Amino acid sequence: MLNQSIKDIVVGRILSQVQTPGQYIGGEWNSRPKDHSTVRGKLCLAFPDTYGIGMSNYGLQVLYDAMNSRDDWACERVFTPMEDMERLLREHDAPLYSLETFTPLADFDLLGFTLQYDLCYSNVLTMLDLARIPLDATKRTAEHPLVIGGGPGTANPEPMAKFFDLFVLGDGEEALPQVCEAWLAAKSRGGDSSGDRESMLAEVAARLPFVYVPRFYRPNKDESGRTVGIDPLRDDIPTEIQPAIVADFESTPIPTRPIVPNVECVQDRVAVEIMRGCPGRCRFCQSTTLKRPLRFRKVETIVQAAREAYSATGYNEISLLSLSTSDYPDLEELLTQLQAEFRPKGVSISVPSLRVNEQWRTVADLLNTDRRAGLTLAPEVALDDMRKQIGKRITNDDLYEGCRNAFENGFSRVKLYFMCGLPGEREADLDGIIDMAEHIWRMGRKIRGKPPTVVANVSNFVPKPQTPYQFNAMRRREYFAAARENLYQRKRLRGVQLKCHDIDSSLLEGVICRGDRDVADAIERAWRAGARFDAWSDKLQPELWWQAIEDSGIDVEQLLHTDHPADARLPWDHMQIHQGRRYLQREQERSVEQLGEMEQ
Ligand code: SF4
Repeated sequence: MLNQSIKDIVVGRILSQVQTPGQYIGGEWNSRPKDHSTVRGKLCLAFPDTYGIGMSNYGLQVLYDAMNSRDDWACERVFTPMEDMERLLREHDAPLYSLETFTPLADFDLLGFTLQYDLCYSNVLTMLDLARIPLDATKRTAEHPLVIGGGPGTANPEPMAKFFDLFVLGDGEEALPQVCEAWLAAKSRGGDSSGDRESMLAEVAARLPFVYVPRFYRPNKDESGRTVGIDPLRDDIPTEIQPAIVADFESTPIPTRPIVPNVECVQDRVAVEIMRGCPGRCRFCQSTTLKRPLRFRKVETIVQAAREAYSATGYNEISLLSLSTSDYPDLEELLTQLQAEFRPKGVSISVPSLRVNEQWRTVADLLNTDRRAGLTLAPEVALDDMRKQIGKRITNDDLYEGCRNAFENGFSRVKLYFMCGLPGEREADLDGIIDMAEHIWRMGRKIRGKPPTVVANVSNFVPKPQTPYQFNAMRRREYFAAARENLYQRKRLRGVQLKCHDIDSSLLEGVICRGDRDVADAIERAWRAGARFDAWSDKLQPELWWQAIEDSGIDVEQLLHTDHPADARLPWDHMQIHQGRRYLQREQERSVEQLGEMEQ
């Protein structure tokens, strides 16, 4: 069952020399190694970041559970090795392996990457390379695993198209097993040459409407070299890829035996997804367009899942996951039942995405939230008219009322999240960020009788694909630098902390997420030059990336800093969202109208 030779190299010769060796040995509580001779298919789930981050990803646990609940499939995991581990694997000529059975990744039938964040893409290349799988998908033979990608990155898969055999758009838990079965069926009829792989892929692409096989599509470019759509090269595959949608969300199994990590992770707790989707229509938000339609689980289903997961793990915190928990219709009932069961056991219930509204006030008492951790709010912008324009459904009065309530209930810390560089942003919007943070600080001091901690986090707006703002240009470096300068100058109170997001990392995120297939060359150049863990601020090497982008001949001005009309064709238009592209266009047109009215 176990690949003993790789395990011997790793345990005997490598682990003593790496940081946090526990992340490389598997064997965790609730992990499910299976004897490969007893299964029909083998899938390895790959997360392009460290174990500590990947093990906190709920989607990974969902897919792991969905595939391993099938007796005839083995589903294992792999994460990106840190630089010390990467170096030692290369020095010892050992391939990257799965945690469950130390099986080389190249021996799996499928390798499924979760594409959570654009700045993790160089890690995908590290993993493929260490797995000895050709980076270029067209160079793989029928013997190689099918390399698939899913997650938010599929909003625009073009920058990674070169490296993937196919992408799965939409919800994964029902789609992934279908892809796995379709690939096994095609494999059983295929041979061992790259030509056979091509026909096997064609079989899968023709069968599943949520599958995108990049090699069967050709980018359409205009005279300036801009990609203006992707055309199919075969007539048996869809022109537009439709998202897979779990229709009966209530009946979809919840992972109730989550793996308990060996080492400390970003989130160490039971997580239960209570609803999928968000009724909000914030125009900058990609999550709301990718996760629609809105679906809920019943209170008793959630309570039962929490009960089972608690008994299977021993965690002392249960987190209720969703994009907007305040919109869960029976939140009060749910929290009452959970508290009745778990408070006596000393287990706390956390709700990460609660909006400040009437419901917040009713349920605040039902949450034994750690008051030292504080209240987190995302006003996004500081003035009501701008907030209306970006589509966010709260007002400053709601926010101030929520803060007042929190301070009165013993909170001493408020974290605020803002965005800088949104379409139509005015000087008053930037000034308002500081004014709002300082207003909340003064309010806290008055109510508490001593100064609170107020942190204003300001990120740089990136117009993400599949959002109504996808047609808008991203602001230039100079704009963000000047805005940051203004913010720091306006800040008067020492008690308010201002944290501005790194400008290079936002601009690079913009280039990658809005790119076409030409960006693959820049990603590969940056990776070959040493880019690793670019999502980590202490590891990102911006000069190396900008050089790679320049050497690839990418026109950043056109790709990132150019506005497009709402009927423009964009490189990701073939990937559909549940509401359809018309929705994005309509919302963009409304935004332009509203901005015009604000100017009058
Ligand atoms: S409320 Fe949050 S999740 Fe919902 S659309 Fe707005 S930003 Fe997105």
